[in-house]
Parts: sequence; structure tokens; C-alpha cells
Amino acid sequence: MKIVVIGGGAAGMIAAGKASENKSNEVVLIEKNNKLGKKLFITGKGRCNLTNAVGKDFLLENTFGNKKFLYPALNNFGIEQTMEFFEKLGVKLKIERGGRVFPLSDKSQDIIDALKKHMNSVKIKLNTAVEKIVAHDNKIKGVKTSNGFIECDKVILATGGKSYPVTGSTGDGYIFAKSLGHTIIKPLPSLVPIITKEHYDLQGLSSKNVGMVLKKDNKILYKDFGEMIFTHFGLSGPIILSASRFLLNNFSNTQIIFDLKPALSTEQLDLRLQRDFKKYLNCDFKNALKDLLPQKLIPVIVEIIGIYPNKKVNTIKKDERKKLVHLLKNFVFTPIKSLGFENAIITSGGVCTKEINPSTMESKIVNGLYFAGEIIDIDALTGGFNLQIAFSTGYLAGKNA
Ligand SMILES: Cc1cc2nc3c(=O)[nH]c(=O)nc-3n(C[C@H](O)[C@H](O)[C@H](O)COP(=O)(O)OP(=O)(O)OC[C@H]3O[C@@H](n4cnc5c(N)ncnc54)[C@H](O)[C@@H]3O)c2cc1C
Repeated sequence: MKIVVIGGGAAGMIAAGKASENKSNEVVLIEKNNKLGKKLFITGKGRCNLTNAVGKDFLLENTFGNKKFLYPALNNFGIEQTMEFFEKLGVKLKIERGGRVFPLSDKSQDIIDALKKHMNSVKIKLNTAVEKIVAHDNKIKGVKTSNGFIECDKVILATGGKSYPVTGSTGDGYIFAKSLGHTIIKPLPSLVPIITKEHYDLQGLSSKNVGMVLKKDNKILYKDFGEMIFTHFGLSGPIILSASRFLLNNFSNTQIIFDLKPALSTEQLDLRLQRDFKKYLNCDFKNALKDLLPQKLIPVIVEIIGIYPNKKVNTIKKDERKKLVHLLKNFVFTPIKSLGFENAIITSGGVCTKEINPSTMESKIVNGLYFAGEIIDIDALTGGFNLQIAFSTGYLAGKNA
């Protein structure tokens, strides 16, 4: 059996290696870049958060799309099997905060090298772009590439999504799948920074402990707590990337509301301000906030609140102080759009799961066509879930192809 795997990312590499374990298979992996795993290399800021050790239920809680579709893939090759797989290939692993699993070396290259080892009997063609998958009577015949036609019996399509196109994920697979009759759920950038209407001079200011509520039409879409960063275009950082998944391209009537002092209740914050105001009784208002807020934030807050910055603290009225408390607990931003595929960690949407057999990853439309990884209409939040999905679906596709 000749099997062509299209895409040398996480899903394609694990699939190719698995398929080649059956010695009667001849497996060819085609990658358009000049090296394998270009995206894998930059994952987890170069450290590769390859899975999440908390467990399957936690992974599913953090996943969007048809979760049931993933059951067979996770049961076949789940979190434990993935960790064992890499450890057997010589990569020592460690578990960090929130169950995030990384190579002990903090080097994503170790994961790529392990996958290369796993593929020792796979023929790898780099610098080769697939242009078309050829099928007759719903049966695979071969693939047309930039370097000629390759006949084959089966194809595993693992071309990824459309995010971070510099890594090679340019959405080619959607075109191939569509031309073979598959439905493509509209790909949209997810886990992506957000452009906001407000442009305060806060660029580079980050906070590790803010509360955040994302609202649409005044209803709560998502709540989180943690780290964010103000940028020149708007907002970024972990909690913002997660929030972006709940927005996708649906930005109308939405608000992001930060609680800048989540550890204090409204009453506690008011008392805290009263104490600070007592301490700085004869100072200018702008100087009375230095114990409470980062320096960069003070002029912005002072301007929004509309209290004259040089007003003496002893003349500030109770309702002005209450207004300040409210602002610090409700710092509102208006999302306009995302920063797009160029800056998105993941693509939501893709090949419709209803048209893929979840037990084999084979297409229900074309015999011998399999799907693996981000090309499938399933995505997750950050935490190692997306790579686990790529490994689980890739393994299952490789096993069945
Ligand atoms: C900056 C960043 C950080 C991330 N960090 C993490 C993390 O720490 N943990 C986590 O779980 N997830 C992370 N992700 C998400 C994760 O990287 C992806 O979900 C995962 O790599 C998807 O794997 P894949 O094999 O499906 O696709 P990809 O890794 O995108 O691989 C697809 C491959 O197919 C090739 N290809 C495409 N079209 C063709 C064609 N026509 N012919 C030949 N080859 C083709 C591409 O060049 C590419 O190499 C991160 C993503 C980004 C962008």
C-alpha cells in the first residue's frame, strides 16, 4: 500500500511514522517547507507545550466543536500514550502550572527530532508543495505536486489551518478537501490579539492578575482571570487570546471589562482608597494613586475619571472616589476586530467532522482519504490541547491508513 501524507507538522509526522510501522506500507511525507515542523518549533514560545496532564475531561472542557468526534482518537492515543511515546523516543518531560507538559530541555526541537526518529522508514520530500489530490470514483489515485505526480492508494491530509501562514499553514488543505466534495466550516482566526476602539497610552503595560469579563449585548460570554498586556493596537496576553475564541468574527456590541483589583471587593477597594487618600491628603490627586496603580496607568485613569490631576486630595468628594472605585473594577474596552490569521495561534473551523469517520479519520466521501490535525473543524484553548488533538488524530489516521 502506498500512502502519501501531506504536511510535515505535528499531525502529519506522527501519522506518517505510525503508518510506516506496517512494513507492507510505503509511506511518503510531503512538506512544502525546506524543513519539518516549522510551526511545532515555535509552539509554547519555543518550548512546545505538547499536551496537558490534567486529563481527558479537562481537554474536552477546553475544546470547541464536535467533542464526541474526538473520543476514539483520545481513547486510542490519549495524553498518557502521548507522553509515553515521546519518553520512549528519549524526550524527558516535565509538568508545569495547569498541567502543561513540556520537554524537560524546554526545547521544541527535541519534539521535532523525536518525531523524525519515529519516521525513520518514511520517505520525506521537502520543498515539495501538493497542488491537487486526484481521485476517481471517490477513490484516491495520487497527488499532483510541484515536482510531479505521485501515484498512491491513500492520502493523509494534515496541512494544518490558516494561522501563522509563515510556517506553511496557508489553508491549502481546505481547497483540496472542498474539491473532493467535503464541507469546509468557515476558517476563522482564534487565540488571537484584539484590536480595540480605545487607544490609551498603555503600550507594553502588562498585568498578571486582572479579572476579565467578555460581554455581548450585555450578556456574559466568557469570564477569566490572569495575565494580559496592553498593546499599541489594543489587547493581548493569555486571557485575551482565550477571549478571542468567544468572539471569532462576531464583534458587534461586545465589551471587555477588566477588574484591575480583583483581589479586593468594591468595599475593600473603597476603604483602601480612603487610606491612601488620608496618607496623601495634601498631595495632588495624580500622586495619591502611586501605591495602588502602576505608574503608566495613573494618567490614563485620571483622564478617564475626569478629576483634575492637580486637584488636592483633601478636596476630592465621596462620589468622585466612588466613581474611581467603579472604574478600577470596570475598565471597559470595545473590541473591533482580531489581528487576523497572521497572528492567530489556531484556526477555528475546517473540514466538517460529520464527513469524517471518528474511529478511523477516513473521509466518508472519498475512500482512502484521511484527515489529521488542525485541518479538522475542532480547536481548543491554550494549554497543550491543540497539539494533543493533532497527535491523537494523526496517530489514528496513520494507524488506519
Ligand atoms: C505561535 C504558536 C504557538 C503555539 N503553541 C502551542 C502550544 O504550545 N501547544 C499547543 O498545543 N498548540 C500550540 N499551537 C497550535 C499548534 O501549533 C497547532 O495546533 C498544531 O501545530 C497543528 O498541527 P498540524 O500538524 O495539524 O498543522 P501544522 O503544524 O500547521 O502543519 C501543517 C504542515 O503542512 C504543510 N503544508 C501545508 N500545505 C501544504 C501543501 N500544499 N503541500 C505540502 N505541505 C503543505 C505546512 O507547511 C505545515 O508544515 C501554537 C500555534 C502557534 C502559531
